[in-house]
Amino acid sequence: MLNLAVVGKDVSQSQSPKMHSFILKNLGESCRYETVSICPDEFSARAEYLFAQYDAFNVTIPFKTDIIPFLSALEGDALSFGAVNTVLTKEKIGFNTDGYGFLLLLENAGVEITSKSVLLLGAGGVGRSCIKKMTEAGADVYVYERNEMRLNDVYREIGGFTPLNEVPLRPYDVIINATGIGMHDTVGMTPEICCNGERKPVGAELISLCGTAVELIYVPETTEFLRIAKECNVKTVGGAAMLFYQAYRADCIYLGKEPCAQEAKKMWEQYSKENA
Ligand code: NAP
Repeated sequence: MLNLAVVGKDVSQSQSPKMHSFILKNLGESCRYETVSICPDEFSARAEYLFAQYDAFNVTIPFKTDIIPFLSALEGDALSFGAVNTVLTKEKIGFNTDGYGFLLLLENAGVEITSKSVLLLGAGGVGRSCIKKMTEAGADVYVYERNEMRLNDVYREIGGFTPLNEVPLRPYDVIINATGIGMHDTVGMTPEICCNGERKPVGAELISLCGTAVELIYVPETTEFLRIAKECNVKTVGGAAMLFYQAYRADCIYLGKEPCAQEAKKMWEQYSKENA
């Protein structure tokens, strides 16, 4: 039996225990999966305990970079993103499975990005991972970020995309909301963009011109961004499957197993049906 946990500032309501237990059971492994909420000031003092207590653990906000000094090595995307969400404790290796989850979200929803134009709103933590994965996949990526300094930093760091201080009102194959606007205390809102010299919440004017609208928020299931897209008959993709796929990838790492897109898709369909 694997001894696992998710570690974050407040993970008391996290879906991780349920999701990982489901995936691991389907992969033929049993686990005990706990939630560990840690006050940011106490993270350093408690980090060693995590390595002693668990076979592996997941890391979430705000500790994805704080965990790095406690690790011996970073693998793949963890190294290039500079952020870790999955840790093997014995080996002290950190991984990042967000990019895998994002690409599988698109692939399993039938959203093609190679040589397609993609407008991404928000170049924060997850936005940066998405930009990197999409440029590597050969997408024509446009990024709008209201924080100009951040946009310039991300451009210097990753490059390969068109940075936008203002969003031209024109068609894009895919539009992605990576701002987090539409959840928690912003339910019913859409992110603000600068368009035609005016700052305003993104709405039907732009969304209706796009082929597919992808939302990275996973709760609520239908954000205002997706509601508008549906109203405009634009194909919509919600963020819940991405959460599931990044968890699936983490569990494959725990088991030393190669991930399989079809297997993950089948599991997600079953999981979402059982938890509808
Ligand atoms: P983050 O680091 O805070 O980045 C959010 C970005 O959006 C920032 O650049 C922020 O700029 C910008 N932004 C905030 N409010 C805005 C507004 N009103 N208009 C335009 N831009 C705005 O957050 P994150 O960690 O990247 O997470 C973003 C979202 O992705 C969250 O909803 C999170 O739940 C979701 N997520 C989903 C998954 C999944 O598996 N589905 C995985 C990871 C994250 P400022 O700094 O100026 O505010």
